[in-house]
Amino acid sequence: MINQPPPPERSHSTRLHVETVAVTAGRPERAVDAPLNPPVVFASTYVGAHDPGAATLGYGRYSNPTWQALEQAIGALEGGRALTFASGMAAAHAVLELLPPDGVIAIPHNCYVGVAEAIDRRARRYGSQVRRVNVADTTEVLTAAEGADMVWIESPTNPTIEVADLPTLGQNLSPNSIFVVDNTFATPLLQRPLDSGADIVLHSATKLLSGHSDVVLGAIVTRADDASTFDALDAVRRSFGASPGPMEAYLALRGLRTLPLRLAQAQASAQVLAERLVAHRHVQRVRFPGLSTDPGHDLARRTMSGFGSVISIDLADAKAAEDFIDGCSLWAFATSLGGVESTLERRRRWEGEFQSVPEGLVRMSVGIEHVEDLWSDLAEALDRL
Ligand code: PLP
Repeated sequence: MINQPPPPERSHSTRLHVETVAVTAGRPERAVDAPLNPPVVFASTYVGAHDPGAATLGYGRYSNPTWQALEQAIGALEGGRALTFASGMAAAHAVLELLPPDGVIAIPHNCYVGVAEAIDRRARRYGSQVRRVNVADTTEVLTAAEGADMVWIESPTNPTIEVADLPTLGQNLSPNSIFVVDNTFATPLLQRPLDSGADIVLHSATKLLSGHSDVVLGAIVTRADDASTFDALDAVRRSFGASPGPMEAYLALRGLRTLPLRLAQAQASAQVLAERLVAHRHVQRVRFPGLSTDPGHDLARRTMSGFGSVISIDLADAKAAEDFIDGCSLWAFATSLGGVESTLERRRRWEGEFQSVPEGLVRMSVGIEHVEDLWSDLAEALDRL
C-alpha cells in the first residue's frame, strides 16, 4: 500500500512544503520491516478477484505499484492526480486523443517540435485545425482560443524560453476549451498550472523530474475533482499500451526526491551564467526570464516562483554555434535537458525544428556542477570563436 498524497485542499498553514512533499509522497506505509522506498514491482499480471467492482491492479498494462508510487508523488507536487506514460510524447498523444478528429487546437509558434509535429500530422490525417499563437501574447492566445476545443500551452517554451500568463489564460479561457499546459521546463516547483485553471498538465518526466539523464518517461496530471478527464486519459493509456516500465518509474521517483535541491542549484547557476553571457561580445542575445531585460521577466516574476534552469543564446550563425559547442569540454553536447549534468545543443541541427528558431541558437541546460567551472568552460569556448 502506498500512502495517499497530502490532500491539496489542506490550508496553507498545514500544507507541507514542496521539499517535504518531494521526499515523503508515494512512500509505503510505515510498518516494522516495511521498506522505506516502494520496491520495483516487475509484473505483467496479478492474482485476480471475482468481484468485477473490486479495485484491483488487473494487468501489467493497466497498473503497477511502482508507477502508482511515482504518480502519487507527481500528483502531490502538482496538486492533482497523475498518470505516468512510457514517454512525454506518449503522454502528449494520450492528451491529443481528447481532441475531436476535426477539432480546433491552438498551439505555440515555438514549442517542443515533437509535439508540434504530432499535432500537424493529426491535422493532416483527420482534418483538425491548428491555430499557432505567440504564447507570450495573451490577447493573441485568447483570440485564437475562441471556439477552440483545446488550447495547448508550453511555458517556458522550448527552445525560445517564452513565458505565458497562465493565471490570465486560466481565468479567461472558455470551459469548452481543454486547457493543457506542458510544464516540463518549470516543474511544479516553479508553477502549478492546475491552480491557474489548467485542465491537464503534461510533463516530459525524462527531464527535470527524473533529473539524471537515465530515463525516458512522461506524466499527465488532472485536477483532483475531474474524474472524467482522468478516466478518459487512463482509458487511452490502457488501450494504446504506452505504459511506463517499472524500473523507469522507480528511477524517476528516486530522482524526484532531490528535485528541489537540484533545481535550486541549477537555477541559481543559470542566473549567474545568463548575466555573464549577456556581456560577452560573441553572444547576440540571451533568452532567460531571470534577466530584467528579458521580455518574459515581469510575467515570470509575477506568476512563477523561479526562472528555471534552461537558457538559450543566439550566436552569429550555425558555424559559430557548432564551434562554440565543440569548444566546450565540461558541457556535454547532447539533446534533452534537466539532468544533473550540463548539456547544450544547437536546436536547428534537427531537421524538423521550426524555421523561426535562429540557426545560431544554442539551448543550454544548466546542471548542478560548480558554477565557476561551468562559466570557465563556456567563456573559454566563446573567447575562441
Ligand atoms: N515536452 C517538452 C517541453 C519537451 O522538451 C519534450 C522532449 O524534449 C517532450 C515534451 C517530449 O518528451 P519525451 O522526450 O519524454 O517523449
